[in-house]
This record gives sequence, C-alpha cells and structure tokens, in this order.
Amino acid sequence: MKFGGTSVADPDAIIRLVGIVGHQLRATPSAPPVVVVSALAGVTDTLVATAQLAEDGAAERAASELRALVERHVAVATAVTSESRTRLLADLRRELEELSGLIHALAVLREVSPRSRDAVLAVGELASSRIVAAAIADRGIPSDWIDARTVLVTDAEHTIAAPDMIETCERARGRVAPVLAAGKVAVLGGFIGATASGITSTLGRGGSDYSAAIFGACLDAAEIQIWTDVDGLLTADPRIVPQPRVVPRISFAEASELAYFGAKVLHPSTILPAVGKNIPVRILNSRRPENPGTRITADGRPEQGQLTAIACKRDVTVIDITSTRMLMAHGFLRRLFEVFERFKTAVDVVTTSEVSVSVTIDDTRRLEAILDNLRNFAEASCEPEMAIICAVGENLRADPTVFGRAVTSLDRIPLRLVSQAASRRNVTFVLRDADVPQAMTRLHEQFFGRQ
Ligand code: ADP
Ligand code: ASP
Ligand code: MG
Repeated sequence: MKFGGTSVADPDAIIRLVGIVGHQLRATPSAPPVVVVSALAGVTDTLVATAQLAEDGAAERAASELRALVERHVAVATAVTSESRTRLLADLRRELEELSGLIHALAVLREVSPRSRDAVLAVGELASSRIVAAAIADRGIPSDWIDARTVLVTDAEHTIAAPDMIETCERARGRVAPVLAAGKVAVLGGFIGATASGITSTLGRGGSDYSAAIFGACLDAAEIQIWTDVDGLLTADPRIVPQPRVVPRISFAEASELAYFGAKVLHPSTILPAVGKNIPVRILNSRRPENPGTRITADGRPEQGQLTAIACKRDVTVIDITSTRMLMAHGFLRRLFEVFERFKTAVDVVTTSEVSVSVTIDDTRRLEAILDNLRNFAEASCEPEMAIICAVGENLRADPTVFGRAVTSLDRIPLRLVSQAASRRNVTFVLRDADVPQAMTRLHEQFFGRQ
C-alpha cells in the first residue's frame, strides 16, 4: 500500500491512512500489508529549494526553510501520536538536526553533488515514514518501522538510481517478510534506497510508486495499491481536461505508455516489477477509499471502439536531421543515434521521411553538443516548446476507425509529427505546446464526451 504526499499531507490525511491500513489488515489478517509512504506533500519540493539555497551560499535562508520544516513535522507528529510521541519527536529532531548540519556544510562549500542532494531529499521520506509508523502503532495496529535504505539496494546513479532487484529482494525477504510473518504491518519510506556500500540514494522524482512496486514484487504481494488524491487513472490529466473519467480496467502495457507519456499518477517504472510477477496494480483515492479505482492487469478490458486514455508530455524539443546524400545509405541511423547515446539523452518519438529524421527529446541539457555533433554529417535544427500527446488503447490495433477519429478530432491543429509504433497500442502526436489544452480537450470530447 503506497500513500502519496497528499495522502500524508496533514494529521487528517494520516488518520485516514491509518483507517485504510486497519481496514486492510482486518480483511487479510494473515497477510499484513507493507505500507510505503511519500514525504508530506510539498516537502520534497522544499528540500530541493533548500539544497538550491545551499548551493547559492544562502545559508541563513536555507536554515529558515529548515526551521519551518521542523515545525511542520513536529506539529503533525504531535497531532497523530500519543504513547509513541516522545520517542518519535526525538527521532525526528535528530534526523532534522543532521540535515541542518549537512545543509550548513553544503552552503559553506556552495556545492551540492547528486550524492549530497539525495542525502537531503531522503529526509522527507525518512521523517514521514517514522510519523506514519508511530501513528499506526498508537492506534493499536501492530507494526514496525523499517529504514528503507537497509532494504532497497540501488546503483550509484544518484538522483535517478536503479534498483538491484536480486539484492533488494533478498533483503526484503530477510528484513520485511519476518515482520509480516509476525502479523505486523511494515512501514517504509518510498523513493529512497542506498548503494551496496550504504550511501543514501533516490529513485527519481515520483519514485515512491516504484519503491512500492519493487517491494511488492520482492514479497510476492497479492496486489500493489497506489493511494493518491484522484479516483484512479483518469482518461486525461485533470489539470488540463476538465472532469475526465476514471478508467476502471487497463492493461500493464497501456498503463506503462500513459505513465511514460505524462500521466503523473504513476511513476513510469512502476509497472515493470509488477509485470514480472503478474501482480495487479490498483490506483485508489485515499479520500474516498470505498471507490473501486483503477485496476491494472496483464489483459485490461477496453470498451469497444474506444481509446483507453490520453496523456501528454509537455515542453519537449523536436530535432530535425536532414541529409539528402546519406539518409538512404546504411549506417546513417546508427551514426545519428550514436550522438544521442554519447550525450546520454533519451529520444521519445522518432519519425522518418526520405530525406529527414525527426526526434523529440525532453532533456535539453546537452542540446548544443548534440546539434554540433549531428552537423558533422547532416543538417540539424531544433524547435523548442513542443509537446507530445499520446492516445492509448488496445483498440487502436483492432479498430481502424479509432485512429481516424483521433486525427479528425485534431482538425486544424498543426501536427508536427505523427507516429504509431508496431504494438499499435498508442499513437503519438507532436504539436506546439501552446496547442495542448485545445488538442487534449478535443480528443477527449471525441472519445469520452462532454461531462
Ligand atoms: P501522489 O503524491 O499521490 O504520488 P501525484 O501528484 O504524483 O500524487 O499524482 C497524482 C496526480 O496526477 C493527480 O492529482 C493528477 O493531477 C495527476 N494526473 C495527471 N495525469 C493523470 C491521469 N491520467 N490520471 C490521474 N491523475 C493524473
Ligand atoms: N517525495 C518524492 C517526490 O516528491 C517521491 C514521491 O512522492 O513519489 O518526488
Ligand atoms: Mg506521485
């Protein structure tokens, strides 16, 4: 059971969480849940900002951010605990004092390496998980807090670390499984882990979903539940399309595409561990636990003639590579993609014509170097402020009218690239970022109607 930031935002949210966990334990007393929690809502962003202040040498402002953070955690911890309170507050104060020492040191050096950044960010999940564990215990639910860094082993790619599944699963069986076997709930922070040599690492923003799926897969969970602030996976991003619908059932493959192309409700890597063990994933609303939410399984169950959902990835850059001489020659594409590989930049959408190749990237940190290198053998230009809209549905394969209706609904919106992959489960449109609201709304109306 993974609870996101808004599901642990304040005392009321934490009390709701305890109710949901208690309900689950009563339903399956012989299989207690593992509870994975995010930092309190907004805390990771504050920690990112604090690290930035340290890097800028603004020690006093960083310290004042930290004081507010301590106050918030102490207030929440005090409100949700009773017997465990004294011990919890001491643990929290110690954790946050260590952080304050670290921030001070970073501000003196004016340097925040990826490794230091992970140490700073991890405090959010360490603190929230301790608070939640104490709140659960104080309401009479047998439970243990476990430091996630002693279980989730990752590589040393700090800020976007990848799990070592073999080692992590061994530790999960050694440290988490015995807690469950004793009939207790295990509580861990999401998002955080440590390298084999014990240095704190993180899985990347939004990574608590991924942690939950990793632990779920290691422990052969019956289900991976993602508790959040919406009623499930929705037919479109509710921040862009007013009143999207809940998707009741969806396949692993469809959900992966949506997560990768911007459906923030699920971290893009979440599905992977679940697929390996064929564990269903459910997305549920912690404010309305009685709602069925979305069930993600191997097969899904799309409605006839329908798309399943749409998502968008904003602020991407299109790169056009043109060469009249070389395109048809063998080896050209290898040369082209080698440039992206050399500069460790992922390409999302690719289209080709007889004389040109267009690709999209979202990480533009090495854009200039990429363009320079492409220009050694082709003309290359780029266009920023573009976006990818991804329409997903197993029906795209079976029913050709679905694709036609999607394109027709975007009538008169300039489409820069259109691409459909071999799986034919999704079609992607690349267009100007400014056209996203209108395009998403029209596509949504075409398939899901006005609400
Ligand atoms: P949490 O803190 O619980 O992990 P997130 O903010 O990471 O929550 O993800 C939930 C949010 O994702 C929702 O509030 C919603 O605004 C956004 N979102 C974007 N696309 C979708 C979608 N297709 N379905 C559901 N939510 C979406
Ligand atoms: N707290 C982390 C973040 O905000 C991880 C998560 O919530 O999934 O990115
Ligand atoms: Mg999230």
